[in-house]
Amino acid sequence: MIQPMQKLLGTWNIGFENVELYATTGPSGSWGTTVLGPKDGGRNRIYVDITTEWQFTLDTLLHEVLEFQLIKLGHSYTPGLNLSTSSADKLFVFTHIQFTEVCSRSAWFLNEAVPSLQECHHAHHHPPVHKPRRKRK
Ligand SMILES: [Zn+2]
Repeated sequence: MIQPMQKLLGTWNIGFENVELYATTGPSGSWGTTVLGPKDGGRNRIYVDITTEWQFTLDTLLHEVLEFQLIKLGHSYTPGLNLSTSSADKLFVFTHIQFTEVCSRSAWFLNEAVPSLQECHHAHHHPPVHKPRRKRK
């Protein structure tokens, strides 16, 4: 049985803060997760499941990075009278120019993160084949 994996790929800038990116293969119940203010006191971090096809992994990374920046810039709201604490019920409100800022801040991170994530994704889906050693005569 393959053990779940959680690997730190790097720490790069989103906006004005360093954020850690982890590749995961564990059954977390979510393709992606953003952790703001981790309990261990470390940096904010993003987890992306790499067990899916590449386009879904990339989709998840893009979702988490944009969402991170939307929250940080104050564009995330909880609708009134909504008792849910689920992030699925959050409302994002931003202008076109604010969307431009979100994209430009996110691009710095994505520029560094995408090649690392893709390399890790490729290694997970195409592990090196070990040929059996030849017997010495
Ligand atoms: Zn989300």
